[in-house]
Amino acid sequence: TDRIRPLIAGNWKMNGLKASAAEFEAMLAGAAEVTAKADLLVCPPATLLAGFAEKARGTKALAVGAQDCHAKASGAHTGDIAAEMLADAGASAIIVGHSERRADHGESDIVVHQKAEAVWRAGLVAIVCVGETQQQRDAGQTLDILRGQLNLSLPQGSRADNLIVAYEPVWAIGTGLTPTTRDVEQIHAFIRQLLIERFNGEGARMRILYGGSVKPSNAAELMAVANVNGALVGGASLKAGDFLAIAKGC
Ligand code: PEP
Repeated sequence: TDRIRPLIAGNWKMNGLKASAAEFEAMLAGAAEVTAKADLLVCPPATLLAGFAEKARGTKALAVGAQDCHAKASGAHTGDIAAEMLADAGASAIIVGHSERRADHGESDIVVHQKAEAVWRAGLVAIVCVGETQQQRDAGQTLDILRGQLNLSLPQGSRADNLIVAYEPVWAIGTGLTPTTRDVEQIHAFIRQLLIERFNGEGARMRILYGGSVKPSNAAELMAVANVNGALVGGASLKAGDFLAIAKGC
């Protein structure tokens, strides 16, 4: 089977001001060097998206994405942003169902499913996040939780070119903790099996990203695990040096 080309996606979360353009420009400047290894995507806060997309215009080595969207295309939803608006601003992908959205905004799998369809309606790629909490892990429920989240969050019509799964154990996000490579291998193999059962050949080619405390010092080891097709990176994606070093580890 052909190797799936890795994607290193940076999630800036609620970080970044106009002054962060310098960091983004450093990422752009270094992107060509890692293009042999991986695709790069930076998801800044929505306020910076259009500006960054403008800077990245014409660059194939680095794309810009968003961190969330509303399920509807327009309307009376104060403060929300539609996938169509993010596409218009220059996004090529949108993260949906991040555990911080699920926790802070009570987003259910059904809502995540609707948002993923909204991402497609706008012609973009959906990055759907799933992952167990520490409590669920301790109770031995990890695989059941993941099966439920994937069954409900991934819409029919998911393909390798419109959907990316990000496995992000909640207890590993921003904590410096990571699962063992053996755990990552078993869980990604489980996810791959579910994707193939439901989406056949498309499921075999879909990217499955690992996320949770990925940094330059552990990236190469994690990216070498079977069925790990890249990373979703939070904290370490804010610095160009770290972000590019992670991509070089692919
Ligand atoms: C994330 O929130 O997607 C994430 C992986 O965060 P961090 O890399 O900071 O753990």
